[in-house]
Amino acid sequence: MRFFVSGAAGFVPSHLCDRILADGHTVVGADNFLTGHRRNVAHLEGHPTFTFHELDVCQPLPDLGAFDCVIHAASPASPKDYYAHPIATLDVGSIGSRNLLELARASNARYLVTSTSECYGDPLEHPQVETYWGNVNPVGPRSCYDESKRFAEAITMAYHRHYGLRTNIARIFNTYGPRMQLRDGRVVPAFLDQALSGQPITVFGDGSQTRSFCYVSDLVEGLYRLAQSDEVYPVNVGNPVELTMLEFAERIQRLTGTSSPIVFEPLPEDDPKRRKPDISKAKRVLDWEPQVSLEDGLRETIAYFQAVR
Ligand code: UDP
Repeated sequence: MRFFVSGAAGFVPSHLCDRILADGHTVVGADNFLTGHRRNVAHLEGHPTFTFHELDVCQPLPDLGAFDCVIHAASPASPKDYYAHPIATLDVGSIGSRNLLELARASNARYLVTSTSECYGDPLEHPQVETYWGNVNPVGPRSCYDESKRFAEAITMAYHRHYGLRTNIARIFNTYGPRMQLRDGRVVPAFLDQALSGQPITVFGDGSQTRSFCYVSDLVEGLYRLAQSDEVYPVNVGNPVELTMLEFAERIQRLTGTSSPIVFEPLPEDDPKRRKPDISKAKRVLDWEPQVSLEDGLRETIAYFQAVR
Protein backbone atom coordinates (compact mmCIF):
# COMPACT_ATOMS: atom_id res chain seq x y z
CA MET A 1 0.00 0.00 0.00
CA ARG A 2 1.05 3.60 -0.60
CA PHE A 3 0.60 5.87 2.43
CA PHE A 4 0.77 9.65 2.76
CA VAL A 5 1.72 10.89 6.25
CA SER A 6 1.56 14.61 7.08
CA GLY A 7 3.73 15.88 9.91
CA ALA A 8 6.16 13.04 9.18
CA ALA A 9 9.07 14.79 10.93
CA GLY A 10 7.05 15.15 14.12
CA PHE A 11 7.37 12.97 17.20
CA VAL A 12 4.38 10.62 16.81
CA PRO A 13 4.11 10.64 12.98
CA SER A 14 7.80 9.76 12.52
CA HIS A 15 7.25 6.61 14.61
CA LEU A 16 4.11 5.89 12.63
CA CYS A 17 6.13 6.07 9.39
CA ASP A 18 8.56 3.52 10.88
CA ARG A 19 5.67 1.21 11.80
CA ILE A 20 4.12 1.37 8.33
CA LEU A 21 7.48 0.89 6.58
CA ALA A 22 8.24 -2.12 8.80
CA ASP A 23 5.25 -3.86 7.19
CA GLY A 24 6.74 -3.34 3.73
CA HIS A 25 4.52 -0.47 2.59
CA THR A 26 5.50 2.73 0.81
CA VAL A 27 5.35 6.04 2.68
CA VAL A 28 5.38 9.56 1.30
CA GLY A 29 6.02 11.84 4.27
CA ALA A 30 5.60 15.61 4.39
CA ASP A 31 6.40 18.29 6.94
CA ASN A 32 6.85 22.07 6.93
CA PHE A 33 9.19 21.92 9.97
CA LEU A 34 7.09 24.34 11.99
CA THR A 35 7.47 22.03 14.98
CA GLY A 36 8.88 18.91 13.29
CA HIS A 37 12.59 18.20 13.00
CA ARG A 38 14.66 16.70 10.21
CA ARG A 39 16.50 14.61 12.79
CA ASN A 40 13.32 12.56 13.36
CA VAL A 41 13.39 11.22 9.80
CA ALA A 42 17.17 11.30 9.22
CA HIS A 43 17.33 7.51 9.75
CA LEU A 44 14.94 7.04 6.80
CA GLU A 45 17.15 8.84 4.32
CA GLY A 46 17.85 6.41 1.47
CA HIS A 47 15.10 4.01 2.62
CA PRO A 48 13.85 2.27 -0.56
CA THR A 49 10.14 2.89 0.08
CA PHE A 50 10.24 6.25 1.89
CA THR A 51 10.23 9.66 0.27
CA PHE A 52 9.99 13.00 2.00
CA HIS A 53 8.63 16.37 0.86
CA GLU A 54 9.16 19.63 2.67
CA LEU A 55 5.74 21.21 2.18
CA ASP A 56 2.87 22.87 4.00
CA VAL A 57 -0.38 20.89 3.69
CA CYS A 58 -2.31 24.17 4.06
CA GLN A 59 -1.02 25.25 0.64
CA PRO A 60 -2.20 23.76 -2.68
CA LEU A 61 -0.46 20.38 -2.95
CA PRO A 62 1.85 19.35 -5.80
CA ASP A 63 1.03 16.18 -7.75
CA LEU A 64 1.97 13.45 -5.26
CA GLY A 65 0.44 10.52 -7.15
CA ALA A 66 -2.28 8.15 -5.96
CA PHE A 67 -2.54 6.79 -2.41
CA ASP A 68 -4.21 3.87 -0.67
CA CYS A 69 -4.22 5.65 2.69
CA VAL A 70 -3.81 9.29 3.71
CA ILE A 71 -2.92 10.00 7.35
CA HIS A 72 -3.26 13.59 8.55
CA ALA A 73 -1.00 13.77 11.59
CA ALA A 74 0.43 17.28 11.15
CA SER A 75 -0.14 19.83 13.92
CA PRO A 76 1.65 21.57 16.72
CA ALA A 77 0.72 19.39 19.72
CA SER A 78 2.50 20.85 22.74
CA PRO A 79 0.59 23.66 24.51
CA LYS A 80 3.74 25.81 24.35
CA ASP A 81 3.88 25.29 20.56
CA TYR A 82 0.23 25.99 19.85
CA TYR A 83 0.24 29.08 22.07
CA ALA A 84 3.16 30.29 19.90
CA HIS A 85 1.46 29.32 16.60
CA PRO A 86 -2.31 29.65 17.14
CA ILE A 87 -3.21 30.59 13.54
CA ALA A 88 -1.05 27.86 11.97
CA THR A 89 -2.63 25.40 14.42
CA LEU A 90 -6.14 26.39 13.33
CA ASP A 91 -5.09 26.31 9.66
CA VAL A 92 -3.65 22.80 9.74
CA GLY A 93 -6.80 21.32 11.29
CA SER A 94 -9.08 23.18 8.88
CA ILE A 95 -7.38 24.02 5.56
CA GLY A 96 -4.90 21.16 5.99
CA SER A 97 -7.72 18.69 6.68
CA ARG A 98 -9.65 19.93 3.65
CA ASN A 99 -6.60 19.55 1.37
CA LEU A 100 -5.77 16.06 2.62
CA LEU A 101 -9.36 14.85 2.48
CA GLU A 102 -9.36 15.97 -1.16
CA LEU A 103 -6.06 14.15 -1.66
CA ALA A 104 -7.68 10.98 -0.27
CA ARG A 105 -10.82 11.49 -2.34
CA ALA A 106 -8.80 11.90 -5.56
CA SER A 107 -7.67 8.26 -5.37
CA ASN A 108 -10.50 6.92 -3.20
CA ALA A 109 -7.94 6.31 -0.45
CA ARG A 110 -8.68 5.62 3.18
CA TYR A 111 -8.20 8.64 5.46
CA LEU A 112 -7.17 8.78 9.12
CA VAL A 113 -6.92 11.94 11.20
CA THR A 114 -5.03 12.09 14.48
CA SER A 115 -7.36 13.97 16.80
CA THR A 116 -6.90 14.46 20.51
CA SER A 117 -8.18 13.99 24.03
CA GLU A 118 -8.35 17.82 24.05
CA CYS A 119 -11.71 17.35 22.29
CA TYR A 120 -12.97 16.51 25.79
CA GLY A 121 -11.58 19.82 27.12
CA ASP A 122 -11.65 19.98 30.92
CA PRO A 123 -13.83 16.89 31.12
CA LEU A 124 -16.85 16.59 33.37
CA GLU A 125 -16.99 12.83 32.78
CA HIS A 126 -14.23 10.51 33.93
CA PRO A 127 -12.69 8.44 32.44
CA GLN A 128 -13.39 9.83 29.00
CA VAL A 129 -15.51 7.67 26.70
CA GLU A 130 -15.75 8.46 22.98
CA THR A 131 -19.46 9.25 23.29
CA TYR A 132 -18.76 12.13 25.74
CA TRP A 133 -19.10 15.48 23.89
CA GLY A 134 -16.57 17.32 26.00
CA ASN A 135 -16.23 20.57 27.92
CA VAL A 136 -14.13 22.89 25.75
CA ASN A 137 -13.67 26.63 26.29
CA PRO A 138 -14.08 27.88 22.69
CA VAL A 139 -12.29 31.19 23.34
CA GLY A 140 -9.58 30.18 25.86
CA PRO A 141 -5.85 29.92 25.09
CA ARG A 142 -6.15 26.20 24.26
CA SER A 143 -9.08 26.74 21.88
CA CYS A 144 -6.81 27.13 18.82
CA TYR A 145 -5.83 23.47 19.26
CA ASP A 146 -9.06 22.04 20.66
CA GLU A 147 -11.34 23.67 18.07
CA SER A 148 -8.93 22.92 15.24
CA LYS A 149 -9.08 19.23 16.12
CA ARG A 150 -12.84 19.33 16.64
CA PHE A 151 -13.22 20.92 13.21
CA ALA A 152 -10.86 18.26 11.80
CA GLU A 153 -13.17 15.58 13.21
CA ALA A 154 -16.27 17.35 11.86
CA ILE A 155 -14.95 17.71 8.31
CA THR A 156 -13.76 14.09 8.37
CA MET A 157 -17.29 12.95 9.25
CA ALA A 158 -18.71 15.28 6.56
CA TYR A 159 -16.48 13.70 3.89
CA HIS A 160 -17.49 10.27 5.11
CA ARG A 161 -21.19 11.08 5.05
CA HIS A 162 -21.21 13.22 1.91
CA TYR A 163 -18.73 11.36 -0.29
CA GLY A 164 -18.65 7.92 1.33
CA LEU A 165 -14.91 8.28 2.03
CA ARG A 166 -13.55 5.53 4.33
CA THR A 167 -12.38 7.51 7.33
CA ASN A 168 -11.03 6.97 10.85
CA ILE A 169 -10.61 9.35 13.79
CA ALA A 170 -8.04 8.61 16.50
CA ARG A 171 -8.28 10.57 19.76
CA ILE A 172 -4.72 10.52 21.05
CA PHE A 173 -4.07 10.94 24.78
CA ASN A 174 -0.77 12.08 26.32
CA THR A 175 2.09 10.24 24.62
CA TYR A 176 5.82 10.19 25.34
CA GLY A 177 9.00 8.58 24.09
CA PRO A 178 12.14 9.12 22.00
CA ARG A 179 12.06 12.00 19.45
CA MET A 180 10.07 14.29 21.72
CA GLN A 181 11.74 17.66 21.88
CA LEU A 182 13.49 18.14 25.21
CA ARG A 183 12.30 21.75 25.44
CA ASP A 184 8.82 21.52 23.92
CA GLY A 185 7.28 22.36 27.30
CA ARG A 186 5.31 19.16 27.76
CA VAL A 187 5.50 17.57 31.13
CA VAL A 188 7.47 14.41 30.29
CA PRO A 189 10.43 16.12 28.58
CA ALA A 190 10.22 19.08 31.01
CA PHE A 191 10.51 16.90 34.15
CA LEU A 192 13.18 14.67 32.59
CA ASP A 193 15.23 17.63 31.40
CA GLN A 194 15.00 19.21 34.85
CA ALA A 195 15.83 15.96 36.66
CA LEU A 196 18.77 15.15 34.38
CA SER A 197 20.27 18.64 34.64
CA GLY A 198 19.74 19.03 38.41
CA GLN A 199 17.22 21.88 37.98
CA PRO A 200 14.07 22.12 40.13
CA ILE A 201 11.13 20.06 38.84
CA THR A 202 8.32 22.51 38.05
CA VAL A 203 4.92 21.14 39.07
CA PHE A 204 2.14 23.47 37.89
CA GLY A 205 -0.67 24.22 40.36
CA ASP A 206 -0.75 21.91 43.39
CA GLY A 207 0.04 18.92 41.17
CA SER A 208 -3.32 17.24 41.82
CA GLN A 209 -4.29 17.34 38.12
CA THR A 210 -3.97 13.96 36.42
CA ARG A 211 -2.74 12.62 33.10
CA SER A 212 -2.31 9.12 31.66
CA PHE A 213 0.85 8.53 29.63
CA CYS A 214 1.15 6.16 26.68
CA TYR A 215 4.49 5.03 25.30
CA VAL A 216 4.87 5.92 21.64
CA SER A 217 5.32 2.37 20.29
CA ASP A 218 2.01 1.37 21.87
CA LEU A 219 0.30 4.43 20.49
CA VAL A 220 1.46 3.97 16.88
CA GLU A 221 0.40 0.31 16.96
CA GLY A 222 -3.10 1.51 17.87
CA LEU A 223 -3.07 4.12 15.10
CA TYR A 224 -1.83 1.61 12.53
CA ARG A 225 -4.56 -0.86 13.45
CA LEU A 226 -7.18 1.87 13.31
CA ALA A 227 -6.02 2.88 9.81
CA GLN A 228 -6.95 -0.64 8.69
CA SER A 229 -10.29 -0.83 10.48
CA ASP A 230 -13.78 0.14 9.37
CA GLU A 231 -14.49 2.10 12.55
CA VAL A 232 -15.66 5.53 11.44
CA TYR A 233 -16.44 7.13 14.80
CA PRO A 234 -13.63 8.34 17.11
CA VAL A 235 -11.50 5.80 18.97
CA ASN A 236 -9.48 6.73 22.08
CA VAL A 237 -5.84 5.65 21.84
CA GLY A 238 -3.91 6.03 25.08
CA ASN A 239 -2.79 4.35 28.26
CA PRO A 240 -5.37 4.35 31.07
CA VAL A 241 -2.85 4.31 33.94
CA GLU A 242 -3.59 7.65 35.63
CA LEU A 243 -1.21 9.70 37.81
CA THR A 244 -1.33 13.10 39.47
CA MET A 245 1.44 15.42 38.24
CA LEU A 246 2.88 15.45 41.77
CA GLU A 247 3.04 11.63 41.77
CA PHE A 248 4.61 11.80 38.33
CA ALA A 249 7.28 14.26 39.50
CA GLU A 250 8.11 11.95 42.43
CA ARG A 251 8.28 8.99 40.05
CA ILE A 252 10.79 10.89 37.89
CA GLN A 253 12.85 11.77 40.98
CA ARG A 254 13.07 8.09 41.96
CA LEU A 255 13.77 6.79 38.46
CA THR A 256 16.53 9.28 37.66
CA GLY A 257 17.97 9.36 41.20
CA THR A 258 18.12 13.15 40.88
CA SER A 259 18.54 15.53 43.78
CA SER A 260 16.31 18.08 41.98
CA PRO A 261 13.67 19.42 44.37
CA ILE A 262 10.02 19.81 43.40
CA VAL A 263 8.84 23.43 43.10
CA PHE A 264 5.31 24.68 42.44
CA GLU A 265 4.42 27.17 39.69
CA PRO A 266 1.07 28.67 38.62
CA LEU A 267 -1.37 26.39 36.83
CA PRO A 268 -1.88 27.45 33.17
CA GLU A 269 -5.37 28.73 32.26
CA ASP A 270 -7.91 26.01 31.41
CA ASP A 271 -5.48 23.20 32.30
CA PRO A 272 -7.67 20.05 32.31
CA LYS A 273 -8.00 18.69 35.87
CA ARG A 274 -8.32 15.01 35.06
CA ARG A 275 -7.63 12.96 31.96
CA LYS A 276 -7.79 9.22 31.46
CA PRO A 277 -8.94 7.34 28.39
CA ASP A 278 -11.60 4.68 28.49
CA ILE A 279 -10.06 2.26 25.98
CA SER A 280 -12.83 -0.38 25.91
CA LYS A 281 -13.62 0.55 22.33
CA ALA A 282 -10.00 0.23 21.15
CA LYS A 283 -9.79 -3.16 22.87
CA ARG A 284 -12.98 -4.29 21.18
CA VAL A 285 -12.55 -2.94 17.63
CA LEU A 286 -8.75 -2.98 17.30
CA ASP A 287 -7.86 -5.82 19.70
CA TRP A 288 -5.36 -3.33 21.09
CA GLU A 289 -4.13 -2.27 24.49
CA PRO A 290 -0.84 -0.78 25.72
CA GLN A 291 2.00 -3.21 26.45
CA VAL A 292 4.81 -0.96 27.74
CA SER A 293 4.89 -0.03 31.43
CA LEU A 294 5.59 3.57 32.48
CA GLU A 295 8.90 2.52 34.06
CA ASP A 296 10.12 0.78 30.88
CA GLY A 297 8.92 3.59 28.62
CA LEU A 298 10.55 6.23 30.77
CA ARG A 299 13.84 4.30 30.82
CA GLU A 300 13.87 4.28 26.99
CA THR A 301 13.01 7.97 26.91
CA ILE A 302 15.73 8.85 29.44
CA ALA A 303 18.30 6.93 27.37
CA TYR A 304 17.24 8.92 24.29
CA PHE A 305 17.42 12.28 26.05
CA GLN A 306 20.82 11.42 27.51
CA ALA A 307 22.05 10.62 24.00
CA VAL A 308 20.75 13.81 22.34
CA ARG A 309 21.25 16.48 25.05
N1 UDP B 1 2.90 20.42 33.74
C1 UDP B 1 3.63 20.63 34.91
N2 UDP B 1 4.90 21.09 34.80
C2 UDP B 1 5.51 21.36 33.60
C3 UDP B 1 4.77 21.11 32.40
C4 UDP B 1 3.46 20.65 32.52
O1 UDP B 1 3.13 20.41 36.02
O2 UDP B 1 6.68 21.77 33.58
C5 UDP B 1 1.52 19.90 33.87
C6 UDP B 1 0.49 20.69 33.09
O3 UDP B 1 0.01 21.78 33.86
C7 UDP B 1 -0.56 19.64 32.83
C8 UDP B 1 0.24 18.34 32.71
O4 UDP B 1 1.50 18.61 33.31
O5 UDP B 1 -1.43 19.54 33.93
C9 UDP B 1 0.44 17.88 31.28
O6 UDP B 1 0.92 18.98 30.55
P1 UDP B 1 1.43 18.87 29.04
O7 UDP B 1 1.85 20.25 28.65
O8 UDP B 1 2.42 17.77 28.91
O9 UDP B 1 0.18 18.42 28.18
P2 UDP B 1 -1.42 18.59 28.28
O10 UDP B 1 -1.90 17.28 28.78
O11 UDP B 1 -1.75 19.72 29.23
O12 UDP B 1 -1.81 18.89 26.89
